[in-house]
Amino acid sequence: MKGKDYKACLLLGGNMNDVQSTFVQVLAQMEEFSDVLKASGLYKTKAWGMEEGTPDFINQAVIVGTPLKPEALLSKLQQIELDFGRVRKNGDDYESRTIDIDIIFFEDYIIRSEILTIPHPRMQERNFVLVPLVEIAENWKHPVLGKSVKQILEESIDSLEVIAVDES
Ligand code: ADP
Ligand code: MG
Repeated sequence: MKGKDYKACLLLGGNMNDVQSTFVQVLAQMEEFSDVLKASGLYKTKAWGMEEGTPDFINQAVIVGTPLKPEALLSKLQQIELDFGRVRKNGDDYESRTIDIDIIFFEDYIIRSEILTIPHPRMQERNFVLVPLVEIAENWKHPVLGKSVKQILEESIDSLEVIAVDES
């Protein structure tokens, strides 16, 4: 990629059955405006407190290099969310499914605007963010907390269990 590349840390999330293959397609689409430099494995978290039969949530963290500024990156990611948010099922029926792509870190930027808060404001409270993140970015320093991802996870009081998904 030409020009200056920024490094950003993203978290993909979804909870429908074929999340795994959707993530693969999402990453392929991201390559149009970024280089996916690192990707964690997939992790699942039980959908506690939700309706019985709600599928587990699946998350994956990635580090991308991109020439896009934060707002432009967000808008590309939101376009992907829209593209994958609805999938054609046999015939004209549509089955909705959730694909969420959050920007966790963007370089060491601190942004608090209407549309964008970076670092992601709740990342430090959520093991489903921290566990995938620590796999690929344990030394990334949180610019507000002044702590590494590894340190934030060690201090986390979130009791949700985040389990690596067997991808074989
Ligand atoms: P959530 O991710 O909280 O479950 P959404 O994906 O629907 O919910 O996001 C809602 C809004 O959050 C988006 O319209 C976007 O403008 C805003 N937003 C603020 N900060 C961020 C960030 N760091 N990454 C992604 N979206 C963000
Ligand atoms: Mg989101």
